[in-house]
Amino acid sequence: MTTPTTPCAATTCTRTLLDTELTTGQTLCSPCVDVMGVWLRELPLQVTVLKGSRQRETTGARTGGRTVHRTAPLPGRADVLNLLGPAAWTDHITDPHGDARADQHGQLPIAGVLIPWIRIITEERRWNPPVSLAPEDLALWLAQPKPLAWASRRPWSGDMRDELHALMRTVRSTTSLRPRRRPVPQPCPRCEDLELVATDHQLYVECNACQGLFTREELALAARITAAALDAGAA
Ligand SMILES: [Zn+2]
Ligand SMILES: [Zn+2]
Repeated sequence: MTTPTTPCAATTCTRTLLDTELTTGQTLCSPCVDVMGVWLRELPLQVTVLKGSRQRETTGARTGGRTVHRTAPLPGRADVLNLLGPAAWTDHITDPHGDARADQHGQLPIAGVLIPWIRIITEERRWNPPVSLAPEDLALWLAQPKPLAWASRRPWSGDMRDELHALMRTVRSTTSLRPRRRPVPQPCPRCEDLELVATDHQLYVECNACQGLFTREELALAARITAAALDAGAA
């Protein structure tokens, strides 16, 4: 029984689309859509921490007393300022998944990553844009169910997911603030490695080995199948 499968549009995802996802016209699997919402809702908190670490350095320099040593900027501060940097609504006039952005080196500000996707959505859907171009407002706008659901049916949804994925890795490593993760003591249903991790606020359990994403139901089913196989072997 072989049925043609459609892979999820995200290069960082190994799932194939379910019939229910194909029926709604999704190009991105539901776990990927869900995780984008998790990331976007986490961003305002990350922005607060980034602003705090920028603040600490400024305060430290001002209260340094009369002996002020001129030193090189603290490592990492440039990263923080860069991530918090402003981006204009019209900075990227090209298609966000076009070649223009591939030429860019270095990390874009959070706003610079989010704005092109929001622009595409607001322009094509004629929805009201975010209240401001502050990174937290941009993130919360994009985290709304309607923009996310619409984006997940576009041919570029995989690029958006992959870009947000890369952004979150940079942001989390800059702030050292990561959602709590705990191992799930069960072999991965796909690759059988013991690398499953559950992450706070995330509906899906992820495999660190094969990057697979699984619902609790899928894991429960896999556990029952494993148990049944063991029983059969023992009999
Ligand atoms: Zn996916
Ligand atoms: Zn796996």
